[in-house]
Amino acid sequence: ATPTALLVGTGRGAQLGILIRGPEVLEASRGIDTVVLDKTGTVTTGAMKLAAMHSARAWAASVSSERDRADGGRDGGGHAGRDGDGDAGRDDDAELLRLAGALESASEHPIARAVTNAARETLGSTSGKLPAASDFTNHQGYGVSGTVSERLVMVGRRELLRQHGIELPAEVAGLLAQAESQGSTPVLVAVDGSFAGVLIVSDAVKDTSAEAVARFTAMGLSVVLLTGDNAGAAHRVAAEVGIEEVIAEALPQDKVEAILRLQEQGRTVAMVGDGVNDAAALAQADLGIAMGTGTDVAINAAGITVMRGDLRSVADALALSRRTLRVIR
Ligand code: ADP
Ligand code: MG
Repeated sequence: ATPTALLVGTGRGAQLGILIRGPEVLEASRGIDTVVLDKTGTVTTGAMKLAAMHSARAWAASVSSERDRADGGRDGGGHAGRDGDGDAGRDDDAELLRLAGALESASEHPIARAVTNAARETLGSTSGKLPAASDFTNHQGYGVSGTVSERLVMVGRRELLRQHGIELPAEVAGLLAQAESQGSTPVLVAVDGSFAGVLIVSDAVKDTSAEAVARFTAMGLSVVLLTGDNAGAAHRVAAEVGIEEVIAEALPQDKVEAILRLQEQGRTVAMVGDGVNDAAALAQADLGIAMGTGTDVAINAAGITVMRGDLRSVADALALSRRTLRVIR
């Protein structure tokens, strides 16, 4: 090998905002045939927004009033269908958001930011600051729990509530399925051990992601979307950017497993991610690439960091390593 060419490649990368940990990283990228992309914050902006909210009590009232209605007219708009108890519904929604937002202010997950921002925006003028959370616990890949205003609050995916023996009303399944089929992420909330409601969040695909995926494909690379999010949200994003292979509902350890399984199939894998939950998979991959907009944990686990949070830089990085290695051999 010619170390000079590797050093030149590393220097060229720096000019392009592609930080390569060392010349050996370019050598390790030889033969990459598969690119695995994390969804949230990598393919999507990661700037999740609260799209809808259904507190258990207000929503139960709207479900029953819907049942009473002979014409069966559906209430797609959340608040719109509630008649007599509209004020109570709003109070319950506000309380749900206050507790969940206060707890999530201790987390850096994109979902947490969406919930806390919505809570601050909605309650800011009326209720002042969010209360403090104590006993905060991050259930990596599942959600969070803690104490807010002397109430035990839990926010996360349905498995988190199930693990803690919290039962969901039968009607919730339909609401979750509907949100997921629309590509959103439903987040469940429990208070003092009982189901308290659902927050529905979603984020947008970066406008550069589809172009990057097209470039990966043109380079002869297989592209896989890997996410802890639900299958509906994962498939919506995959379809939007032109990815056919999807692995969804992956816990952090499942992400490592997924990379291993691809490697066992004889594939040489580049993994691209930004989150704490991606770090182990980045380390396991033949080449780990972190988004410079992501967490330090991901950056430290990766061989390459692209400064711009733009997947086209990842395509640039792979093209650069190919060119550099071609000079050598
Ligand atoms: P991703 O691969 O999309 O970054 P994660 O592994 O971080 O996903 O999380 C998987 C799922 O766990 C999320 O889709 C969400 O349902 C739940 N979750 C994780 N952290 C939180 C949190 N702070 N608040 C609510 N839900 C969370
Ligand atoms: Mg992510």
